[in-house]
Amino acid sequence: TADAIALERKIVTAVPGPKSQAMHERRKAAVSNGVGAALPVYIAAAHDSIVVDIDGNQFIDMASGIGVTTIGHTDPAVVSAVQNQVASFTHTCFTVTPYEDYVRVAELLAAHTPGTHAKKAVLVNSGAEAVENAIKIARKYTGKNAVGVLDHAYHGRTNMTMAMNFKNSPYATGYGSLGTAVFRAPSSYPYWDGMTGEEAAERTIWYFEKQVGVADLACIFAEPIQGEGGFMVPADGYLNRIQEWCTENNVVFIADEVQSGVARTGAYYASETFGLVPDLITTAKGIAGGMPLAGVVGRAEIMDASHPGGLGGTFGGNPVSCAAAVAVFEQIERENLLGEAQRVEKTLVGGLLELQKKYPIIGEVRGKGAMIAIELVQPGTKKANPEAVTKAIAYAFQKGVLLLNAGTNYNVIRFLPSVKTSDELLLDVVSVLDEAFAAL
Ligand code: PMP
Repeated sequence: TADAIALERKIVTAVPGPKSQAMHERRKAAVSNGVGAALPVYIAAAHDSIVVDIDGNQFIDMASGIGVTTIGHTDPAVVSAVQNQVASFTHTCFTVTPYEDYVRVAELLAAHTPGTHAKKAVLVNSGAEAVENAIKIARKYTGKNAVGVLDHAYHGRTNMTMAMNFKNSPYATGYGSLGTAVFRAPSSYPYWDGMTGEEAAERTIWYFEKQVGVADLACIFAEPIQGEGGFMVPADGYLNRIQEWCTENNVVFIADEVQSGVARTGAYYASETFGLVPDLITTAKGIAGGMPLAGVVGRAEIMDASHPGGLGGTFGGNPVSCAAAVAVFEQIERENLLGEAQRVEKTLVGGLLELQKKYPIIGEVRGKGAMIAIELVQPGTKKANPEAVTKAIAYAFQKGVLLLNAGTNYNVIRFLPSVKTSDELLLDVVSVLDEAFAAL
C-alpha cells in the first residue's frame, strides 16, 4: 500500500523510464495535444511527499499536482474519509437532495477565512469555476459589470477566466473572442518595480479609475501571492490599500486564493498574513486532499444577493470531495499543519538563501510557508533567465525531484511541497539544486 513507501528519492531507470516512455506513446495517440505534459513519468502510487512511477522511480514532490496535496499524498485520514463516503453514496446533487458534509465545508470555510462577519459559501468543481462564480456573485450584488484584474494574474482556462489572465499566450491563443469588461492594472512586484505598497496601490487605483471608473467596476481580483505569475509577494500595505479603496467605492474585493489557500502559506488563507479581510475568497486546490472541490466564500449579504437557482451545478460540492475536505481541515488542526508550513518556509528559504550566495543567477528568494520560489536572472542584472530554469528543472527531474516553473517570463522555479515534507527531504532538494546550478 502507498503508506509503505520509503520516504526518499530513488532513481532506478532512465527518467522517464521505459514503461513511462511506452505509456507516453499510448497517451500521444489518445489524449489531446492541447493537454500539457510537464514531467511525463506515469504514477503508480504516492505517499506523503514521495511519488512513485510505474518504473519504480521515487521522486520528492515539490509540485504536489500544482499545489493540491498540501497535507501530503494519501493522508490516512483523507483516504479513510473518502473510502467511507464512497461506500455510503457518491452523488445525489446537493441542489436536489442535500447532505451534511457540503454544509460542514461551508461552515469550515466561514470559520477559517479572515473576519468575524456573517459568511456564506457555494461549492463548485475547479478553481476557474470558483472565479467564474465570484464574478457572477459580485455583479449581481453591485449591479455593475466590469471586472478588474492585475498584471501577472492567472485565473484559469474557462472562457471568462482566459480573459483575466495576464498572458494571452498560451492560455487564450486561437480560442476566439474573450469575455468582455475585463480591465487590467499594474500590480505590486517589489523585486522589479521597487515601489512601496502605497505607491504601487496608488498606481493600480489610478489605472482602474481611468480605464473603467468605480461606477462600472463590480469587483477586483487579486491573488494575495501571485501563483502562476511567479509567487510575487506584494509590498506591505499594497493589498490593504486596494481593499480599502474597494470598500469606499462599492467594489467587491475578491482574493483569489486558489493556489495560496488552505494552509499553504502558514495560515489558513494567505489574506490573513497581510491583515486582509476580503469580501469574497475563491478556494480550490488544497482544500480536499486531491479530490476535485472548489468554492467561493464571503460576506453573507454579497453571497445572498443571488437568487435561488442562479448558482450551482450537477457536481458542485460532490459528497466524496466534501468528506475529503472535512478531513483536510481536521488534519490541519490535529497535526498543527499551519506550524508545519512555517517550518517548511524556514528550512527551504534558509537553504535557498545559501544557494543564492553561491549562484548569482538566483535574483530573489521569496514566498511564504510552503509557497516559495526563486527567480533566475542573468547574473548582475534582473534580465530573465528561463533557460537556466528549464535546465535546472530537467536536472532535478533526472535526480528524482519534481519541480515546476512559473513566472510571466518562465524564469521562476516554484516550490509547492506538502507542508509535512521533512526537513531532511527539503534539504535534499536544495542539495540537488546546488548540483544543478553547479552543472549550468
Ligand atoms: N486561480 C489561481 C490563483 C490559480 O493558481 C489557478 C490554478 N493554477 C486557478 C485560478 C485555476 O484553477 P483550476 O485549474 O482548478 O481551474
